[in-house]
Amino acid sequence: MQMSAANRISVRKGTELPPIQKCTECCSRYHCPLCNSKIFKPTDRYRVIIHLKAHLARSVKYKGDAIASSGENGN
Ligand SMILES: [Zn+2]
Ligand SMILES: [Zn+2]
Repeated sequence: MQMSAANRISVRKGTELPPIQKCTECCSRYHCPLCNSKIFKPTDRYRVIIHLKAHLARSVKYKGDAIASSGENGN
């Protein structure tokens, strides 16, 4: 499975989500690549995607506010 170099997909800034990789260091969940894990706690992949889309909608401005309703705010 080989892609033509001419058709190489370039990441368009502002429209593509950063790659989300499962954490193998501190947990086995997914981190927001833009946020400190203390700000956005590792969670399920789809939640990170929702969260990242919110980042893009805000031009990647983040100040630790809870963007996606996480359901982990109880207590
Ligand atoms: Zn982790
Ligand atoms: Zn984030």
